[in-house]
Amino acid sequence: MALDEDWITEICAEGGSAFSLKGRGKVFDKQSPFQKIEVFETDSYGKLMMIDGCTMVSSYDNFLYHEMMSHPALYSHRAPRRVAIIGGGDCGTLHDVLKHPEVEKVTQIDIDEQVTSAAKLHFPELCESNADPRADLLFIDGIQWMKDAAPASLDVIIVDSTDPIGPGEILFSPQFYGACHRALAGGGLIVQQSESPLIHQNILEHMYRNLLGASFQDIRTLFFPQPIYPTGWWTATIGARDTQLQSHRIDEVAKRGFETRYYNEEIHRAAFAQPEFFRRLRETWLTAD
Ligand code: SAM
Repeated sequence: MALDEDWITEICAEGGSAFSLKGRGKVFDKQSPFQKIEVFETDSYGKLMMIDGCTMVSSYDNFLYHEMMSHPALYSHRAPRRVAIIGGGDCGTLHDVLKHPEVEKVTQIDIDEQVTSAAKLHFPELCESNADPRADLLFIDGIQWMKDAAPASLDVIIVDSTDPIGPGEILFSPQFYGACHRALAGGGLIVQQSESPLIHQNILEHMYRNLLGASFQDIRTLFFPQPIYPTGWWTATIGARDTQLQSHRIDEVAKRGFETRYYNEEIHRAAFAQPEFFRRLRETWLTAD
């Protein structure tokens, strides 16, 4: 069956694959100084945001990504009071981070205000916490903000960025990880969306090498399903600044005072389980010269 123009398609050249959704028309279209932002109405996934032709967030499955980019790292940290989100312009990760009462301050730094404008219009459910007094939303380049951040001023850094191309490329660089390591206090963690474990192993290897090069002591990858992203299987990689990564507060997960749709204690443990092919790859990345 040939797909007619109603279908919205992301071509994933590196995976030799494509992902399509049946659409009902485009409801937002903006070329910003940094990227092209489009929002579509779809038949079965609600609204779909695309940036530079790549699927970013849908109303239907965003909870998987936003919960896994926030809760595992926050429950792994002893006391996550000061959080920075680099990227995250759709505000979904911010919304989940602010569910944690122990979080005292969250600064979200996205390079492009147009992404948040589109989210406010078409994903209002993700922007519900934007006015929380603990939240600060800034629109500048994440690397500049991180370079200017005071040493040891953060507990958790969440890098909810686009892929390592265009404005997002710098967020996978040694300089950025070096700036993050300096800005994190003792026991600090960085967590970053790290693409598909099947077709983006080169990006993951790059991240491991650069995080090790920036003196992060322990690096783990967690796995979760994400239907709208290439291969439908995605990862987030966590780097521990100066300790072995441990789930310090996992016994608090079952008592959490807020709703989740995917994340719970079992999922937390399962997400860190390493598939055999990945366990072998990770070993080579951690022991490579
Ligand atoms: N979940 C998505 C993914 O995995 O592809 C990411 C969603 S979020 C919308 C990505 C955000 O990263 C965008 O809003 C984009 O503007 C932001 N971004 C890209 N490069 C950036 C940079 N150098 N500094 C700050 N934000 C950046």
